[in-house]
Amino acid sequence: MDVQQQIIALQNQLREYNYQYYVLDNPSVSDFEFDKQLEQLQQLERQHPQFASADSPTQRVGGAVTSDFATVEHTYRMYSLANSYNREELEEWAARVQKDIEQPVSYVCELKYDGASISLRYQDGKFVRALTRGDGSQGDDVTTNVRTIRSVPLTLKGDHIPKDFEIRGEIVLPWEGFHAMNKEREELGLELYRNPRNTASGSLKLKDSAAVAVRPLSCLLYQLAGDDLPFASQWEGLEMARSWGFKVPQESKLASNLNEVQDFIDHWETARHDLPYETDGVVIKVNNLNQQAELGFTAKAPRWAIAYKFAAEQVSTVLESIEYQVGRTGAITPVAYLQPVEISGTTVARASLHNADQIARLDIREGDTVYVEKGGEIIPKVVAVDLDQRDPKAPVYTYTTTCPACRTPLMRKEGEAQHYCPNDASCPPQVKGRIQHFISRKAMDIDGIGDETVDQLVDAGLIQNVADLYTLTEEKLLPLDRMAAKSASKLVAGVYASKKVPFSRVLFGLGIRYVGETVAKKLVAHYGNIDALLHMPNSGDGLFDTSVQDKMNELVAIPEIGESIARSLVDWIRDEESQKIVQRLREAGVSVEQEQEDAPASDTLGGKKFVISGVFDLSRADIKQLIEMHGGKNVGSLSKSTDYLVRGENMGPAKLEKAEKLGIPMITEQDLLNMIGV
Ligand code: AMP
Ligand code: ZN
Repeated sequence: MDVQQQIIALQNQLREYNYQYYVLDNPSVSDFEFDKQLEQLQQLERQHPQFASADSPTQRVGGAVTSDFATVEHTYRMYSLANSYNREELEEWAARVQKDIEQPVSYVCELKYDGASISLRYQDGKFVRALTRGDGSQGDDVTTNVRTIRSVPLTLKGDHIPKDFEIRGEIVLPWEGFHAMNKEREELGLELYRNPRNTASGSLKLKDSAAVAVRPLSCLLYQLAGDDLPFASQWEGLEMARSWGFKVPQESKLASNLNEVQDFIDHWETARHDLPYETDGVVIKVNNLNQQAELGFTAKAPRWAIAYKFAAEQVSTVLESIEYQVGRTGAITPVAYLQPVEISGTTVARASLHNADQIARLDIREGDTVYVEKGGEIIPKVVAVDLDQRDPKAPVYTYTTTCPACRTPLMRKEGEAQHYCPNDASCPPQVKGRIQHFISRKAMDIDGIGDETVDQLVDAGLIQNVADLYTLTEEKLLPLDRMAAKSASKLVAGVYASKKVPFSRVLFGLGIRYVGETVAKKLVAHYGNIDALLHMPNSGDGLFDTSVQDKMNELVAIPEIGESIARSLVDWIRDEESQKIVQRLREAGVSVEQEQEDAPASDTLGGKKFVISGVFDLSRADIKQLIEMHGGKNVGSLSKSTDYLVRGENMGPAKLEKAEKLGIPMITEQDLLNMIGV
């Protein structure tokens, strides 16, 4: 056997040992034997570096250092999941599914693993890249670190492996490993890790991959993404992935109706405590991939899946006082200050009370003993009062009527639970909060300004709004406390550099209510520039000003923009102050239009309205995008004013009938492509 063959044989042997140990949890050799062979391979590869390769088992020990994790666009978006907490919510979801899919639906039930989401990419059967979820559209490249996780196969085995695909899952830290890591830290006198999930996601961002390699992380896979996947259902996908060497948990189950789903939930609600890793719920997915495609996605989550969250752990403690926070939109949130208490491994000293109604409904009083729960949210909440413990003299709690920050009388809009401070122009936490949001990492990402600096600049009267940032100079900054020449110039340079930030992040940074990152991107893709977004359709000279309603209609016709987003945008557009700020940002050179290459390709479809239905060769999102790129409009449902119905496979009979009744021309995917000349 020559050296190359010897290296390959050792690699294959060690790969198989790894698979048995880490994927099947069923080791076939002693650690000693494994280490001996690994050392032998390491030595051979060192002596003959021309035969070393990135997918060799020796690469599992790490060593490469990453100084900066590159941000990379996801080929397929990584969505989050809608949540449900009880049988009714689950039934409502199933009813919505059934409304769109007029055929029987079966479900795959999986456990919801609590770790760090990851997307692994494989080309020609080799692991090539790992990305974190990030904001869903782009994540961080953590390939070097993920390569050290033994249950992630570097080379796949088996049949029907797609040439290029992604597989999604969760990097978890099983309890045993977590406790072992903490024991070691305890001995070293170091602060203990709080919970497995944070430690798992923190591990992915360690600079030294050798430090990741020694952490007992595992990778559980549950979802494939790709253009040409060789299966027709989620269940088959799981089985195939397992056959290719992935660690696909065995607990999943195929259910043919909701009762079976409920049985699965009931079973795991308690049985999960015996699992080696943390889970926080069940994920229910429509099994058939055609049905999944028919259901599609909302802006955030697939319509074909839902998470069912297990009831969270509750503890009781004393509520010491109630204080108020003022958000950047002026919303007032009451906060409970608690006697610190441990819940699911974290110490909790504050909890949200949501709003005045919540306090009244629970009749919470200061000094009460309360039950606190850590649910799906990051901030724990007060769920009930232990009335037996109440001091009979404790007075009923009265909610504040004025803003805790600026003393302005609070307002409450019809139908809304939250009180608001209407003094948005000069209420300090609002002024500061808006600026802090604008400079934050996901918006303008301005280096050199932290939250305290914003406080300082506002307090010193140097800035009142985001446009004022662009008037700052070193001379103005230097007289401030703790402002060294170096920090002043860094701040000014950071502000200057932010002029290059793309328009969608500027729009997000403006902090318009309900306009998150995704919505901002949608708006930019649709309007292209700020003028088009700000433009109110002409109301003519009639008696009735219909421009607000016209703008609302224009906005809700954009895919995934609903009533509340549209209403909030129209309010913002009609506000003189926001117009002024936009004007000043534009004058300062901040980007208020989309970069040229993303502009609409043509106006071939000339504003015609399209409804798409069924399954296509292209994804539905791509088809909608093409329609928009060529000047067409997507509308949600069929009406007299619809110009075309683009008809895919498996379109529901109800839609078909309606289109025929209304006499709407039906075209195929190919017809559409012909129309726009693609
Ligand atoms: P959330 O972060 O609460 O929106 O929940 C969505 C996340 O659940 C996904 O991004 C995944 O990381 C995670 N997850 C855990 N287990 C599963 C599963 N079996 N299927 C899909 N997602 C899962
Ligand atoms: Zn106020």
